[in-house]
Order: sequence, then structure tokens, then C-alpha cells
Amino acid sequence: MHSSYQYKDGEFHIGDVSIAKIAESVGTPCYIYSYEFLKDSFLSYKEAFSDMDTLICYSVKANSNLAILKSFSDLGSGFDIVSGGELLRIKRAGGDPGKVVFSGVGKTREEMKAAVEAGILFFNVESEEELNVLNSVGTELGKKAPVALRVNPDIDPKTHPYISTGFKKSKFGIEIGRAFEVYKEANTMEGVSVIAIDAHIGSQIFDLTPFVDSVRKLIKLADDLVSEGMDIQYIDIGGGLGISYKKEEKPPHPKMYADSIMKEFSGKPYKLVLEPGRSLIGNAGMLVTKVLYLKEGTAKKFVIVDAAMNDLIRPAFYESYHEILTVRQDSKGSEVVDVVGPICESGDFLAQDRELPVVKSGDLLALLSAGAYGFVMSSNYNTRPRVAEVLVKGSEFSVVRERETYEELLSLERIPEFI
Ligand SMILES: *Cc1c(COP(=O)(O)O)cnc(C)c1O
Repeated sequence: MHSSYQYKDGEFHIGDVSIAKIAESVGTPCYIYSYEFLKDSFLSYKEAFSDMDTLICYSVKANSNLAILKSFSDLGSGFDIVSGGELLRIKRAGGDPGKVVFSGVGKTREEMKAAVEAGILFFNVESEEELNVLNSVGTELGKKAPVALRVNPDIDPKTHPYISTGFKKSKFGIEIGRAFEVYKEANTMEGVSVIAIDAHIGSQIFDLTPFVDSVRKLIKLADDLVSEGMDIQYIDIGGGLGISYKKEEKPPHPKMYADSIMKEFSGKPYKLVLEPGRSLIGNAGMLVTKVLYLKEGTAKKFVIVDAAMNDLIRPAFYESYHEILTVRQDSKGSEVVDVVGPICESGDFLAQDRELPVVKSGDLLALLSAGAYGFVMSSNYNTRPRVAEVLVKGSEFSVVRERETYEELLSLERIPEFI
């Protein structure tokens, strides 16, 4: 846990701010993010890669709140985006489009046009058809769209199958064996300019070997392309570094990650681009929820809370684990429970068979490591308004996204006259 997370007089605090006080003021459930935590995460990456010309492009999809984006932008971060909506967020947050890379297998013409006009650093092109469309967009605009091809290095990142993206059978990228040909084709196009190579092999990766294997393949390809006369300036190695969800998990520190990557680049002319998401924001956020009811079956004891799978889908979707702390420490022993939400799905659990301190109705629980792929994956399932988001910095906190109201939730729906 970060040094800013601590119990003071038995009450969980981030820095000087009491979690219970935030919950009282904004209600529950709510996501709470620590500015100090995200800043330290970013700076430790930056420091780790300081021996190389490196651009860190925070992966916006991990947590795209404008206040989070502004925080990273002010720290000097660039951004990895996957949609036109995320590009708009960068502009609204005052980010520098010149430090944006644009990934994703299904970019539309409109999204491409907006990104070319904004002057992004480069596109990570994921298929030959996409390359042709981007070429035509560039030509129409009288510009050369800067591109990397996202290559698929066929590497097993040894993580959850839903977040493995660098296998041959995956939908992402262009098979590395084909890449050379496609690059040669791209290099003849009027509407694009080839400047980079990209790969992203997966997420929540603990083993450094797949990263190093991938980087070796990318550098080899870059060298081959340079000998063909292409001007490869950047190698973008994607994101994917893991974080600890359980106390005993020990992911590599960014320093170890950096050292193993930078070694491969020694003597090479390329600049490095990184796209970390989870490892910058995952542990900087928590979901705070209130206990509604306790229910004891013959087989199990349930703690029913006001947060549900629509607020945090990771346990249901990836069977992922989030550490749960009681916001107030008053030890009355512990028991094994399932922590579940109000949604009508058996998959609606936040923790199963978990040993927790004994709690009662009204107690607050904090689900840690919920800063990445938490709020952004939330939905309105069961007509539940999406929850508030709060940022804490020093002794201050502020709502950075209001809780949705029922009116807002229904406002886009229409009942047609023909029914
Ligand atoms: C999701 C994603 C990332 C970020 O991955 P993390 O595991 O959160 O670091 C980076 N690049 C691309 C292309 C992605 O899709």
C-alpha cells in the first residue's frame, strides 16, 4: 500500500482525508483516487526510463476521468487513445495532441480525420484495410498521417486469456511475418508516413521475459525497415505491466522493467514509447461501498453492499480479486463471507469466500486497486446511476464526476407514438 494510505485513530485515511468523511459528503458507492499515488507511480516510471529518450503515453481507457487526464498531462505524460471520444477528452483536459498515439482495431474515418487534424504523434494501424482508409483520409486532407503498424509478435504474456493480445489467433495487430511487406506498401503511400513500430501483448503481466522477447522482435524489424530506407523513429512497446491486487503478489518494479527493456535498446537510434494504464492508476483508486444487509444461508454468509457488478465488473468478468478493508478498524473477530451487490445476477459478487472482519449494516468497506478498469467499465445495468468519482490531494478532496441522477439516466429515451 502507498504511504498515503493509513489508519488514523482507527479510521482509514488517504493522506489527511478521512474516507468516512468523503462517503458522508458524497454518498456511497463512490470511487476515490489518490493524486499523490498516481503522481508517484508516474514519476517512478519516468525516473526508471530516464536514461533513454522515452515518451510515456498513459493508456486513457484504464481511467479516463478528465481530472485524472489533467493530472497526468501536467506531469508531462502523453496519451494512448482508442477512440475519438478519448481524443476529445485529451483536448478538454488540456493534453498535448502531439503526444498522443491512437490504437484500436476499428477506427472510423471520422475518428482518423479528427486525429490527423489534431496533429497526433502517430496512429497504431492494426490491419491493411485500415491502412488503406487512413491513406485515403490523409490524402483527402492533403496531409501525411504518421503511422506505426501494430505488429502481433505472437508471444504468450502468461496472463488472463481475456487480456492476452499478442497471440497469432488474437484480433489485434498485423502478424509480424507479414509486417515487412505491409510496411513496404505503406511507405509508397501518399497519405501516410511511416515513423514507428508498435506492439501491445496484454495486460497484468508479471513476467518480464515476454516483454523482452517482444522488444527484440520489434527492434529486429525496425532495423530491417531502416535498411530498406524507412525512417523508423519510435518503437512503441505498449503497456501491460502488472500490479499487485493481493498483498503477496510482487509485480516487477518499473525500474526492473525499464532496465530489462533499455538493455535491448543499447546502441540503437530509436526513441521509446510506453503505454502503461493499470500500472499508473490501478492501485491509486478504491471503490467505497456501504453494507446494507447481512444474510446467513445454511451454506454461506452474505454481506450485501450498495456497490454491484455494474459499478465494478472485474470480479465477475475476470474473476479478479480486490482486497477489501473496513474503513473503521474495530476488531470483533473475522468470518468468511461473500460480498455481493443488489443486482439480479448470480455473477454479481465483489468477493467470494473472503475472510473479513465482522461487519454490520451501515459499515463502510473499501475495495482497493480499483483505479484502473473500474469506473470506466461501469454501466447502468438494473437502472443504477453510475457512481461519483472523487480525487484526493493533500488535505483536499473534490468530486471529479457527479453521481448520475435518474433523470439523466432516462433523458435519452423516447416512447414513439406508434406504440
Ligand atoms: C489497454 C491497452 C494498454 C494499457 O494496458 P495496461 O495493462 O493497462 O497497461 C496499452 N495499449 C493498448 C493498445 C491497450 O489496448
